[in-house]
Amino acid sequence: MITTVDARELGIDRPVLMLDKQRCLRNIRRMADKASKQGLSLRPHFKTHQSLELGRWFRDCGCERITVSSLPMAEYFAGDGWSDITVAFPYNLGQASQVAALARRIDLKLLVSSPVGAADLAASITTGVEVFIELDVGHGRTGIAWDDYAGQQRALDTLAAKPSITFLGFLTHAGHSYRYSVGQLPGLNSEVLARLATVRQRWQPQWPQLLISSGDTPCSTVCDDFAGIDEIRPGNYAFFDMQQASHEVCKPSDIAVALIAPVVAVYPQRQAAAIWGGAVHLSKDLYSDSEGHTVYGALCPLAADGSWGEPLKDLRLSALSQEHGMISADKPEALDGLREGQLLAVLPAHSCLTADLMGSYCLPDGTWLDMLTSTKPR
Ligand code: PLP
Repeated sequence: MITTVDARELGIDRPVLMLDKQRCLRNIRRMADKASKQGLSLRPHFKTHQSLELGRWFRDCGCERITVSSLPMAEYFAGDGWSDITVAFPYNLGQASQVAALARRIDLKLLVSSPVGAADLAASITTGVEVFIELDVGHGRTGIAWDDYAGQQRALDTLAAKPSITFLGFLTHAGHSYRYSVGQLPGLNSEVLARLATVRQRWQPQWPQLLISSGDTPCSTVCDDFAGIDEIRPGNYAFFDMQQASHEVCKPSDIAVALIAPVVAVYPQRQAAAIWGGAVHLSKDLYSDSEGHTVYGALCPLAADGSWGEPLKDLRLSALSQEHGMISADKPEALDGLREGQLLAVLPAHSCLTADLMGSYCLPDGTWLDMLTSTKPR
């Protein structure tokens, strides 16, 4: 029997993203403690939350340097006093003048992800900047391959020839960790560390100060070996989500955001229901639940104080269209107690995308927190 709050009781008339501050603070503190115990510099990725207020929560936990994924995001956080920011996204030649302007104000660290990208940066920026070369250690997204020393040499030569550029070291994002379950992550982590160690061995004689920056949420959360890594840059851990929970990187009770979605249609005869909560709210990111079904989020009951319970067992968010979220029930009784006008909480498959799409956070006390969203940059 589902017991979940009526929308009118809570005064919520549309999908909103509810933030559990205590869980978020716990997640932020846990990673800060781990990094400090491991002697690692922590440069959290702020693209997950994109909020000045949440940034201040990190600052209160001792965080002084951050990662972002775009120049507008760097400008946004620089405006709130962040003065050491890495834009962990390949240098975009079209933004040379904005990059130069920001580099005059703060300690701006940039990323080049190919030899030509390095040449473009060197040719277009005369302001002093610090630069990482991005490496691909297996993810297959951006970065010079970890074993392409000729490519790395070309990028290095270009950067070294430009006095205004300080070469910092190598940066990687082992995002293929998202495909691994908790038991497989230490193996993947060891492979990544071994690859980075060979890169360090190759270049350290010429660049004794070089830094290695790595650290996605799955490996940073689960693994304890960071040998050869100077800095980690996880971001998702502030919220976690069902992709991480489905791989047992976190528990559902660690997830700090939930889409609050009005129930708009219930069809016990066909074991289905619909919520107002579709792809424009959650994104189309998905995961496999414990029975191997493809799902778009975990459905939870919502209480009158804005807190949500554990995921409901026999209900699945099995399809999304633009505004609709379609619920499948394993048996007709699984819908008992659910009716139009109530609210359900959806733990997102991928919290970073959900947050970006929703554009603001609601706290249970009715406070709203603003954010930048990369889909609608200033
Ligand atoms: N660094 C880079 C370059 C990334 O692209 C990302 C995420 O996509 C991160 C760090 C943060 O990793 P996670 O989302 O696993 O916390």
